[in-house]
Amino acid sequence: VRSSYLIGLVGAGIGPSLSPALHQREAEHHGLRYLYRRIDLDTLGLGPDDVGALVRTARQLGYDGLNITHPGKQTVIPYLDDLSEDARALGAVNTVVFGEDGRSCGHNTDWSGFAQSFARGLEDAPTRRVVQLGAGGAGAAVAHALLTLGADRVTLVDADRDRARALAAGLTGRFGDGRASAAPRERLGALLAGADGLVHATPMGMAHHPGLPFPAGVLHPGLWVADVVYRPLDTELLREARALGCRTLDGGGMAVFQAAQAFRLFTGREPDPARMLAHMAAL
Ligand code: NAD
Repeated sequence: VRSSYLIGLVGAGIGPSLSPALHQREAEHHGLRYLYRRIDLDTLGLGPDDVGALVRTARQLGYDGLNITHPGKQTVIPYLDDLSEDARALGAVNTVVFGEDGRSCGHNTDWSGFAQSFARGLEDAPTRRVVQLGAGGAGAAVAHALLTLGADRVTLVDADRDRARALAAGLTGRFGDGRASAAPRERLGALLAGADGLVHATPMGMAHHPGLPFPAGVLHPGLWVADVVYRPLDTELLREARALGCRTLDGGGMAVFQAAQAFRLFTGREPDPARMLAHMAAL
C-alpha cells in the first residue's frame, strides 16, 4: 500500500488557493506523507498553452497527480492519455492522475463536487426550473451537475450571451432538447419570478468583485439560492437571500467535495468530507 504522494496544483495566481491545506490536512489524518505543491503559471511566466508540457514534466519528475485550475482546464486535454467520460463530455479537466503504468488520466470533480454539495445542502429542493447566472468554467460544471441531478430545465444568463448560448447548445446535445437554454440578462427578473432556484456562477461577490450581480429586487422568498463563490463563504447574495427567507447553499461545499473526490482519485482512500468542511471553514 502506497503511503507517500507528490501532488501539484497547476494554474495562474494560485497563491491564495486553499487546496494545499485541505489536501495535506486530510492526508495527515490518513497517516500519509503527502506533499501538495503549487505550480503557479504566473510565477513561472507561463501561459495556458504551456500546461500540457508541464503535465509531462510533472510526470517525469515523479508527481503522482495534479489538480488543474484556471486557465488550464481545457488546454491540458490534448496532452492526456485518457479521459473519464464526464471530463470528455464537459471538455474540462481539473484532476490528472498518473497511473502505475505511467499513463495520465484526466477527471473532472468540479461538477461532481457541486452535485454532492447540492445533494447535501439543498436536499429535496425543487428543480423544475433553475436559473443559472454565469456560463464560464464553473458554470459549465454546475449546469452539468444540475441536469445530472435531474433538474428539468436550466436557463443560462451570462453577460456574454454567446457564452450562454454555446453552453446551452452543448448541454442540450448531452441531456436533450429543452433541458437548457440561454436568455438575455434583461429577462432575469421575469425568469426568477417563475423559477424554483437560482445558481450564481460569476465572480461577483468575491473579495475583489464585491456586490450583487443584479438588483436585489429580483430575489423572492420562493427561491433557493446557491452560490459557487467561496471566498468569502458568506456573500452579499447569500445574505440578501437569507434575509428574504430563502434556503441557501454557499460555494464551500463545491470546493471541499471537488478536493475530497480528487484526494480519493489520487490515493484510493476515502476522505472524510465533514472533517474537510470543518477544516475549510476554519481556514
Ligand atoms: P469564468 O471567467 O470562466 O466565468 C465567469 C462568467 O461570468 C463569464 O462568462 C462572465 O461573462 C460572466 N459574468 C461576469 N459577471 C457577470 C454578471 N454581472 N452578470 C452576468 N454574467 C456575468 O469564471 P469561473 O472560472 O467560472 O469562476 C466563476 C466563479 O466561480 C469565481 O468566483 C470562482 O472563484 C468560482 N468557483 C468556485 C468553485 C468552487 O469550488 N466553489 C470552483 C470554480 C470556480
